[in-house]
Amino acid sequence: MRCRFCSKNISKVFIDLGSTAISNAFVTEEIINSKESIYPLKVLVCDNCFLVQVDEFQKKEEIFSNDYVYFSSVSDYWLAHCKKYVEKVIPQFHLNTESLVVEIASNDGYLLQYFKERNIPVLGIEPTNSTAQIAISKGINTITEFFDEILAEKLSVEHKADLILGNNVLAHVPELNSFVRGLKILLKPEGVMTFEFPHLMRLIEKIEFDTIYHEHFSYFSFFFIIKLFEFHGFKIFDVEELETHGGSLRIYVKHRENNGQAISENVAGLLKKEIEAKVNDINSYIGFQEKANEVKFKFLSYIINERLKGKKIIAFGAAAKGNTFLNYCGVKSDIIECVVDDTPSKQGKYLPQSHIPVVSRDYFKNNKPDIIIILPWNFKKEISEKLSFTKSWGAQLVTYIPEIEIH
Ligand SMILES: [Zn+2]
Repeated sequence: MRCRFCSKNISKVFIDLGSTAISNAFVTEEIINSKESIYPLKVLVCDNCFLVQVDEFQKKEEIFSNDYVYFSSVSDYWLAHCKKYVEKVIPQFHLNTESLVVEIASNDGYLLQYFKERNIPVLGIEPTNSTAQIAISKGINTITEFFDEILAEKLSVEHKADLILGNNVLAHVPELNSFVRGLKILLKPEGVMTFEFPHLMRLIEKIEFDTIYHEHFSYFSFFFIIKLFEFHGFKIFDVEELETHGGSLRIYVKHRENNGQAISENVAGLLKKEIEAKVNDINSYIGFQEKANEVKFKFLSYIINERLKGKKIIAFGAAAKGNTFLNYCGVKSDIIECVVDDTPSKQGKYLPQSHIPVVSRDYFKNNKPDIIIILPWNFKKEISEKLSFTKSWGAQLVTYIPEIEIH
């Protein structure tokens, strides 16, 4: 295949997770006995620009189907994170009732609602109909389309943005260059942009291979992201390291021609740290598979031993990363009886491929599991607090990345 950024032929494998179902494709009772679609999940790395990317991708419409079940507003923790962001950027970039804030992949309006509360005009762009409809019902101006340069041309006739933001969207973009060219068109000359995305260096360091799924076409180092934005005529003027999603970056971007924002020393600082970690050395990427396999084998050995002792094992949180992990490990409902999840749209369904049933918290009324595996380990603190009542019968709360840990 050709690199999504620099078009060079690439063949170096970062990790091959085998053939697996799309991690958000929950299975209903009606279709559980029919054939399930599985796709290869193989991640390559370009030895020219060091973009880590998936080998094959499906039609984007198939992945982001209308019954997409991820609603951003479900997590209180995430909402608090977004509210804090809004309170920071409004004074920093002098946003007011004359400004326009555009969010790409605005989901159910989880973030734009905080701008709207402050009477700052907003426009959401969200291709998933089920989430976009919720945003619209909250009065948040939303366009149900994929963002690319064609849409940017169309929008920029009437709207140019003072702030464009995208949280966890860059990884979902198949045509990366078209996307960034679109940003160049839509942003006002003095406008700014922020993007948050999981940090590849953290993924490698903590062996977070379960954050790899079909919906993510690319995985970014700061080194690469600078290259991408500079190529398209932008300048990154600040970067923050965040704890969200197992370690993310928030970048601040402006047009190259804009002298309005000073370049923070964080930019050179983080780049230096990445170069020291050999981000531009192909050997840093090769060998990741073996580390991931070690995590898998240790988990399997732990869970099979506990099961042989007769322990009752369930999981908590039917997150996408849990599906990548369980399917790579080949775990089914004979080991993990069910997954408790608070999202009503997932309850009563089954996890893709493993077919482990998803149930509500009512499960605990009649069941006292010995072991609860926390699948979204990035929320382990929040979830451990939520589940503290299970301590009354001595349940163990367990995470497994990068090591088995009992909370
Ligand atoms: Zn490349």
